[in-house]
Amino acid sequence: MKKIVIIGGVAGGMSAATRLRRLDPEASIIVIERSGFVSYANCGLPYYVGGVIADQASLLLQTPQSLDARFELDVRVESEVTQINRDSKKLTVQKKSGETYELEYDTLILSPGAQPIIPPIEGIERAHTLRTVEDVTRIAAAVASNPKSAVVIGGGFIGVESAENLVHKNISTTIVEAAPQLLGPIDPELAELVHHEVRKHEVNLRLGAGVTKITENSVQLADGSEIEAELVICAIGVKPDTTLAKGCGLEIGDRGGITVNEFGLTSDPNIYAIGDVAEKIDALDGEATLVPLANIANRQGRVAADHIMGRKVRPVATIGTAIVKVFDLTVASTGWNEKRLKARGINYQAIHTHPGSHAGYYPGSEQMALKLLVTKPDGKILGAQAVGGEGVDKRIDVIATAIRCELPAPELADLELAYAPPFGSAKDPVNMLGYIAENLLTGFTENVQWYDVRPMQAQGVTLLDVRTKDEYSRGAISGSINIPLDDLRERFEEIPDGKIMVYCQVGQRGHTATVLLRERGVNAVNLDGGYKTWVAAEPLT
Ligand SMILES: Cc1cc2nc3c(=O)[nH]c(=O)nc-3n(C[C@H](O)[C@H](O)[C@H](O)COP(=O)(O)OP(=O)(O)OC[C@H]3O[C@@H](n4cnc5c(N)ncnc54)[C@H](O)[C@@H]3O)c2cc1C
Repeated sequence: MKKIVIIGGVAGGMSAATRLRRLDPEASIIVIERSGFVSYANCGLPYYVGGVIADQASLLLQTPQSLDARFELDVRVESEVTQINRDSKKLTVQKKSGETYELEYDTLILSPGAQPIIPPIEGIERAHTLRTVEDVTRIAAAVASNPKSAVVIGGGFIGVESAENLVHKNISTTIVEAAPQLLGPIDPELAELVHHEVRKHEVNLRLGAGVTKITENSVQLADGSEIEAELVICAIGVKPDTTLAKGCGLEIGDRGGITVNEFGLTSDPNIYAIGDVAEKIDALDGEATLVPLANIANRQGRVAADHIMGRKVRPVATIGTAIVKVFDLTVASTGWNEKRLKARGINYQAIHTHPGSHAGYYPGSEQMALKLLVTKPDGKILGAQAVGGEGVDKRIDVIATAIRCELPAPELADLELAYAPPFGSAKDPVNMLGYIAENLLTGFTENVQWYDVRPMQAQGVTLLDVRTKDEYSRGAISGSINIPLDDLRERFEEIPDGKIMVYCQVGQRGHTATVLLRERGVNAVNLDGGYKTWVAAEPLT
């Protein structure tokens, strides 16, 4: 009988355990879990803080008893593996009581997850981290004592979710983020929309700010300011929990996670590592990466189980698709962002659009900001981001699927996506990205980006606003001239000599105007995403 031991009984570990049982009714499968809970919904923890998820029990998806009854798994909670002896293939397990015992394995799966990064700041012990059910119980107890103020250190996904939930509890909340923007995976012009949203909900945002000290009731920043904070949550990121792996000499990669092959096998042929602790393979460049997300942890768990049982498996690679709710906004991304493409020196094309979530004439359509990044000239899709409301998730998921299937960007136009007015448009936003990509990649039109506007103006390029007079009067890029698209043929003589940068509200009328001008021999380019993208990014220009 095969003896398989799994360390960590949540996302990756429990996926592996249940799959193993389905594949082998005889195997001895033991899961060792340090906390008091297994198979809990850590992704739901922030919502328990805010009371959106009212009952803590609903976060607990299984118990050791239910897992034993259904899968005959030997799940041992409040038990910590403190050592791995690879020569004897034995683990040392310490119970909560302090008592220890040894456990043999034939195959070991490591799924201990990640550890919150704790910065070396004076008073940091006052800050809560949010990783486990025990953590959230402590935070919920602190919230129950009705603090008036809170500081969340870190503006990543968990930090932003935590802040939103503290606001739900009427706590005056500040997010302190060292980077100049929230939510690192998205690009700065889209992050500006997120900043606007959190400020709208009265979250105090301190970007580009470093915490120097946490006192009894405040957080001090490097610029000398002090923010009242009866409650402090530290969410500056996570790092793979490689304590055990290092202790037994497993190979650790450059990114700080356990080195594994595409099936999760470590440098030891009897040990697999899955989930947040393991380095992943980036599907876009084949290099090692860290993606601490639940989908890939679950997938790795299943693949490792299949591999252990000798089944044919597809290698796991990741594109890091993620989504987060920020008050009334949905923010989602997949693949690489523009910051990373620039840093890598990749020749790419960015495309910004602002489509409606469904047909504009059907009530309730919400405009989103949608961005696609593709290689030039071959149109390989490298990434996408979206910020908006309804329908953001669906567009990013379709593009994530397209990346996985290596669909060239122009072929997004060919996707037959479900359409009726309450749900989408006959030309879905994803189709539109395909049309635009085709126009740009074939050289039919040329786009420039929001960050090109001021430098091009400085070089003497004329900015032509082709929106209506009314739109122009409500706000325009300074220095631009206004000739509405419908007047353009008639007023062609007014177009100054030299290069013209055309813009409209979202880029669509600008495209038509650009084509018209180019047909008449004008060197015209279109401002990608139009005034809407530019004005969102204006604070960055
Ligand atoms: C608050 C929060 C919100 C999140 N939201 C999302 C989201 O919305 N979407 C998303 O995709 N991802 C989200 N994640 C990330 C996601 O939960 C993780 O990527 C995923 O759980 C990783 O799975 P894992 O199996 O590697 O580790 P985990 O699920 O963290 O499980 C590891 C377990 O191992 C145990 N353990 C560690 N060391 C030992 C030891 N020595 N002995 C015994 N047990 C040990 C730990 O107690 C822990 O329970 C969120 C995470 C958190 C904390």
